[in-house]
Amino acid sequence: MTTDTAAPATPEEAPPRRLSEWPDERGRYGPYGGVYVPETLIPALHQLEEAFAATSGDENFWQRLRALLNDFGGRPTPLYHAERLERGIRRAAPKEHGAEIWLKREDLLHTGAHKLNNTLGQALLTKKMGKRRVIAETGAGQHGVATATAAAHFGLECTVYMGAEDARRQRLNVIRMELMGAEVVQVEAGSRTLKDATNEAMRDWMGSYETTHYILGSVVGPHPFPMIVREFQRIIGIETKAQCLRKLERLPECVVACVGGGSNAIGIFHPFIEDIDTKLIGVEAGGRSPSPGDHAAPLSLGSPGVLHGSMSYVMQDEHGQTLDAHSCSAGLDYPGVGPEHSFWKDSGRVVYEVADDTEALRAFQALAREEGIIPALETSHAIAAAMRIAPTMPKEAAIVVCCSGRGDKDVDEAARLLAERRN
Ligand SMILES: *Cc1c(COP(=O)(O)O)cnc(C)c1O
Repeated sequence: MTTDTAAPATPEEAPPRRLSEWPDERGRYGPYGGVYVPETLIPALHQLEEAFAATSGDENFWQRLRALLNDFGGRPTPLYHAERLERGIRRAAPKEHGAEIWLKREDLLHTGAHKLNNTLGQALLTKKMGKRRVIAETGAGQHGVATATAAAHFGLECTVYMGAEDARRQRLNVIRMELMGAEVVQVEAGSRTLKDATNEAMRDWMGSYETTHYILGSVVGPHPFPMIVREFQRIIGIETKAQCLRKLERLPECVVACVGGGSNAIGIFHPFIEDIDTKLIGVEAGGRSPSPGDHAAPLSLGSPGVLHGSMSYVMQDEHGQTLDAHSCSAGLDYPGVGPEHSFWKDSGRVVYEVADDTEALRAFQALAREEGIIPALETSHAIAAAMRIAPTMPKEAAIVVCCSGRGDKDVDEAARLLAERRN
């Protein structure tokens, strides 16, 4: 027996991945994520994965994107101390309690929400791949508008799929998209909402990916989408960290963000994920009640399953059929959530809470009245949670809330809901 045929030494056990180092090679975040799609979509996803991997050494790509986010988008967005809101909270808090409240103002980004960070990044990636057309799905129309905006900037052809019912409710966004040269296809199938629009966009992409990129709107869907959208939204947290070090001379004790698909939350949380002294709190939509069909809180009230190409927490019945979601805010009204959030929930690193329609409306009014900032109804869920948490923390502590978007789009709906509650 010779030594060179001896069995290899027991391999060193691979060191566990840090939370910031996921997904793995198979696009998994622990048991979540992955690629649960028809075979016809695999080539498109492989091509996208390769194109995105090639940006990692491409200084030019990231510099161009940064310049565009600054000059066209209006970055960096401010970190603002909401002192009047804070004072109101302190008056009702136990002595020496009531943490400082700071807002990361993504509502001031061009088109009024964080979504442009992602659509500009993916549109630049589209150019890099040599494609000339983009498609997107949209619910309330915010992602559609951000996609149409990025497409106009780059001179890309743009088709946005939107449920006919959503298009009726969000006529203004349909007009905005068309003004910027996008074709809006109203989908008459099914419940004529987001889920049906997503199916149509997928169908388009299966036949068109040679020339077309599908700009997905949140950290959901099959790998590599959740990772790509995260990388484009991380700018929120990177800026927040630097601004905190400048203004507070330390990291904040707590960061709060609302969670629909989860992109603004991942964007602000990810750069803090290894800073374990900073508490991270994601806020889902509690809707009307915790009963099935009345809310949009898969992490808090759902269970693991497959939806739109990946494994994650989802709201489903005992047969695995996806349940309808409800929230007063269209952007949180989704039965699933990004796989990385599911992984973070199980790890305990991020805590997920719920704010219901009533609490969100109260926070919407409070921020408007106290600070002169009308937040999106989505954002109002994060504000509501911060207002609940601040009195439990000492005065010296600081909470940063991701102010994901502005509320102009929501004033009709908010007025209707407030009138309903008065009667
Ligand atoms: C779309 C939207 C959301 C929800 O999407 P995430 O992917 O969870 O960030 C939240 N806030 C605003 C203002 C939005 O437009």
